[in-house]
Amino acid sequence: YADGMESPIQSYLESLHAEIAQLRDGRPDTNIPGISNADPDKFGICVSTVDGYVYEVGDTRDEFTIQSISKPLTYALALADLGTEAVDEKIDVEPSGDAFNELSLAEGSGRPANAMINAGAIAAASLIKGSGGSSRFKRILKTYSDFAGRELDYSQRVYESERRSGHRNYAIAYLLRQFNIIEQDPVPLLEDYFRQCSVLVTCRDLAMVAATLANSGTNPQTGKQVLELDVVDRVLSVMATCGMYDDAGAWLSSVGMPAKSGVGGGIIAVLPGQVGVGIYSPPLDEHGTSVRGGAASLRLSQDLGLHFVHAG
Ligand code: GLN
Repeated sequence: YADGMESPIQSYLESLHAEIAQLRDGRPDTNIPGISNADPDKFGICVSTVDGYVYEVGDTRDEFTIQSISKPLTYALALADLGTEAVDEKIDVEPSGDAFNELSLAEGSGRPANAMINAGAIAAASLIKGSGGSSRFKRILKTYSDFAGRELDYSQRVYESERRSGHRNYAIAYLLRQFNIIEQDPVPLLEDYFRQCSVLVTCRDLAMVAATLANSGTNPQTGKQVLELDVVDRVLSVMATCGMYDDAGAWLSSVGMPAKSGVGGGIIAVLPGQVGVGIYSPPLDEHGTSVRGGAASLRLSQDLGLHFVHAG
């Protein structure tokens, strides 16, 4: 589009943003002191196509912590490192219907239900090993950076806050240790898990992460192949069934896209072969999902025909 001419999708996103900005429900996360002072008015929407066209509106360049959107990315790295079979021995692929921080392991196998709840995500992080002079966390951060297409860092302040206040995650990790799902000291592992949750991203970064998943594992802007197709398939399947925790069924029915939320206020949603969506707005609903993020995802799905049942 020539200078001064807006594309139809850009003007659509601007009116959607203005409308959904009016929603005043929810409040920023209160469990992690380091993020509870987030500005409730911040709101960004970014959409990237698999051929690298990026549309953004609102606060798309503000940094916030990735939180649970880290989970599918670390799970992907574990799958790439060890293969599906070895990872499946430790982490199942069933929706739990529980909240993200539920203290539960499956009866019998002792495995966490899936890699999207905290128990499964901590187990996934435990499977990542340092290599070639790179620590476990350095490898995790490098993977996230490849997804986003720029070099990311983490917030030392939020990390410290999670380390001091994350008692429930310590309880989960010790339970995993007791059942030999993790076979290492829980404390350094949790420190890396808290670091991965504290990685700073923008709404635009999230759209690029989502678009990389939509584009069979290759970042549409850098052209770098981050994941093999079989890993992408697995990650998107688990996001579809478990990414929104105890809201996963309602989400897939209404929005119809594999997605992942984080208590920092971010959401990614992926329509394979077509688009990746990143949204940022800190006020959360009772599932820990961004209220405006959920509403915007639904509208995008309806207005642009992104529901998997009838897309493509
Ligand atoms: N760091 C948070 C935790 O482990 C992430 C939770 C989330 O985003 N749902 O509890």
